[in-house]
Amino acid sequence: MKNVYNFNAGPSALPKAVLERAQSQLLDFKGTGMSVMELSHRSKEYEEVHQNAINLLKELYDIPENYQVLFLQGGASLQFSMFPMQYLKEGLVGNYILTGSWSEKALKEAKMIGETKIAASSKDNHYKSIPQFSDFQFNENDAYVHLTSNNTIYGTQWAEYPQITHAPLVADMSSDILSRPIDVQKFGLIYAGAQKNLGPSGVTVAIVRDDLLSENVDHVPTMLRYQTHAETNSLYHTPPTFSIYMLNEVLTWVKEQGGVEAIEKRNMEKAKLIYDAIDESNGFYQGHAEKEARSLMNITFNLPSEEQNKQFLAKAKELGFVGLNGHRSVGGCRASTYNAVPLEACLALRDYMNSFRTE
Ligand code: PMP
Repeated sequence: MKNVYNFNAGPSALPKAVLERAQSQLLDFKGTGMSVMELSHRSKEYEEVHQNAINLLKELYDIPENYQVLFLQGGASLQFSMFPMQYLKEGLVGNYILTGSWSEKALKEAKMIGETKIAASSKDNHYKSIPQFSDFQFNENDAYVHLTSNNTIYGTQWAEYPQITHAPLVADMSSDILSRPIDVQKFGLIYAGAQKNLGPSGVTVAIVRDDLLSENVDHVPTMLRYQTHAETNSLYHTPPTFSIYMLNEVLTWVKEQGGVEAIEKRNMEKAKLIYDAIDESNGFYQGHAEKEARSLMNITFNLPSEEQNKQFLAKAKELGFVGLNGHRSVGGCRASTYNAVPLEACLALRDYMNSFRTE
């Protein structure tokens, strides 16, 4: 088998132990004589997987009783329009904090639904930073305030979250969910596509506070109401059963690693290796993010010239590093160091960055 270091931005690395477990259960899931993909979503075997995944996420993230965990489809991209469809009503404002391309995309969708405003933006600073809390512009008729917790493309991340009381705080946590402990109570709604820290693509996780489930949503099609999925324990229709099975295995793995605190500690260690290689390079590697806004999940940097970026990436590819290209919209280099990326991969990248620079 080819030995690679997977730094893909998403879909991305899965824990090897999870893949091995899935492989061992592929042909016969728990004595059923078939794979989990072939089971009815109404069978007790599947329902057990489904419920276990919900329970584990609640346990690992310390989710309070008044929040529901939902399994949806359509990716984080559908969430960009799904929550405005229910909450951005006539006379209210969808208020957005812009920290990168994904926040812009979320705003673009909301504009098609209702009135929007920008509470703060770091666009003028080329999305190298997260806006200061003191700069936020709120409105008394805010339907919600939306933020993107980790900016996958620019490589910035919120170090802490504001306590917002006048409206629900909605967060797209697609690229850092479960990478560190959070205070779920600060949020009305959290959503994330699974394909970075939670499992394969196909399932989108939403964590919704009860009061947001009791709004009148008669104008919203059934499948696009959080209520529909909350009332049926995300079994209103056929859920993406294999993705949820994998999610359950990934959550089990996170628990085996010592939970979210332990994962965060490892993520810090991993990211530090690469940030140190940048900081100790006398400016050869230039990080995109300002230091206090650096992401532990996506480390973005450039070499002194486009030609050197190309050489660096080409040689990296030969050595088995996968996915180090920056997003097509910004170029440069990006190492995505999600939960399942092993420390050894980061050590290897650190060594490669040092030897390439010396050469
Ligand atoms: N938000 C963020 C922060 C992302 O990184 C991504 C995907 N890279 C998306 C949203 C879009 O997610 P999806 O492909 O699941 O729609």
